[in-house]
Amino acid sequence: MIQTNICVLGAGPGGVAASLQLAKLGISSVVVDKAIFPRDKICGDALSGKVPYVFNRIDKEIFKNFTSREDIKYNCWGIEFIYSDRKIQLDYKPGVKEENLVFEEPIGFISKRRDFDNYLVDYIKKEPLIDLKEGIQITAFEKNETGYILSSSDKSTQIQAKLVIVADGAQSKFARQIGKIEKDSKHYGGSVRAYYKNVSGGDYFNRIELHFLDNLEPGYLWVFPSTNNQTNVGIFMRTDLLKERKINLKKEMIRILKEEEPFKERFKNAELIGNIEGFGLPLGSKKRVISGDHFMLIGDAASLIDPLTGEGIGNAAVSGRIAALHAAEALKANNFSAKFLSKYDKMIYDKLWRELKVSAFLQNSYKHKWLSNLLKGLGNNKQFVSVLLSIFSDVDLKKKLLSPVFYYKLIFNKE
Ligand SMILES: Cc1cc2nc3c(=O)[nH]c(=O)nc-3n(C[C@H](O)[C@H](O)[C@H](O)COP(=O)(O)OP(=O)(O)OC[C@H]3O[C@@H](n4cnc5c(N)ncnc54)[C@H](O)[C@@H]3O)c2cc1C
Repeated sequence: MIQTNICVLGAGPGGVAASLQLAKLGISSVVVDKAIFPRDKICGDALSGKVPYVFNRIDKEIFKNFTSREDIKYNCWGIEFIYSDRKIQLDYKPGVKEENLVFEEPIGFISKRRDFDNYLVDYIKKEPLIDLKEGIQITAFEKNETGYILSSSDKSTQIQAKLVIVADGAQSKFARQIGKIEKDSKHYGGSVRAYYKNVSGGDYFNRIELHFLDNLEPGYLWVFPSTNNQTNVGIFMRTDLLKERKINLKKEMIRILKEEEPFKERFKNAELIGNIEGFGLPLGSKKRVISGDHFMLIGDAASLIDPLTGEGIGNAAVSGRIAALHAAEALKANNFSAKFLSKYDKMIYDKLWRELKVSAFLQNSYKHKWLSNLLKGLGNNKQFVSVLLSIFSDVDLKKKLLSPVFYYKLIFNKE
């Protein structure tokens, strides 16, 4: 039996952020993952500005080295929101000054999760305070006086931990069984993703494209340029609407790429690499209880994905870091009670709820055509464009969307 104060269940971006932050505080942990890295994770592979922002707070070396890894990442200098009748394009050339912001660095990256997660896992492999156990699937959780015993199905691995940081993603058994997190189709996303070769279009900016097609709204079809001349393509939609509209995402994606413009032309010589694969997105559009006696849920296990953009890597890292900071307090106080750990919930929602709420509001605005038309019509408005960009790059700017003054300035074009 392995004895540890803290076990991190899952070595995705959330689990890595948590274990690395613990190590920076001088605290050891056991990290267990069912996969042997490198492994794929079905994802759009887009890393917004939030991801380097959080990892920089843990260790500046991580992204300093990542930015020089041309083999595993693609720089992104622009975003395109495409509606049936108009396009909002946000492009920033390096060094161009816009609204007092100088964009010396790309607004984001595309990195295949097989590469990105492996890059992060290499960091925890080098860290003496982290004991990584790969290729071990945890299937049972038994509570005792000390905390939890996590076991593999044949019980060949058993880990006794005072505190479990649960980072095992969207299908977390722990979150469902112990955390009582229920799947709610209004707050859950369905998606498919595929890699293609030989897709035409694209230019200097390496824009990520979000296509808001009528039958998919408030979801979208994405086309993201990727490494090795490949393109990551997928659809993200709320599960209740998928059922209501009886959409089979895989068939729908194949149909759109084959029949609808501009895809028809751009994909006419494209070759599908591998399969079109589906996966779920637990959305952060409602608050949940995300801790309890001897555990804290992070990332997808805590349902923290942005309901508008489908972005979850940044929030997985944010929650991993906060869980580690609070775990340090719990260790100091030798208190792993639900009451003590509930402060983690407060810390998470103090940090993330405002932006999750804005995204949920915008996601729901599809029902009110007047609002989405207003938003679409603002494509040339500099303030609006800077805020749209902020949704993907700068976290604090997004808070502007909550201010009535912002809408006043926006609508009446006042400075
Ligand atoms: C199709 C799709 C597209 C997306 N696109 C984007 C995007 O472009 N940008 C973005 O920011 N987010 C995107 N997301 C969301 C993003 O993928 C997740 O929010 C993110 O991966 C969450 O990180 P995590 O660390 O919480 O969990 P994960 O990354 O899912 O990691 C969980 C880890 O736990 C391990 N694990 C699971 N079960 C067990 C077990 N029983 N025992 C041991 N180990 C276990 C897994 O092997 C895995 O390594 C997308 C999601 C989907 C489905």
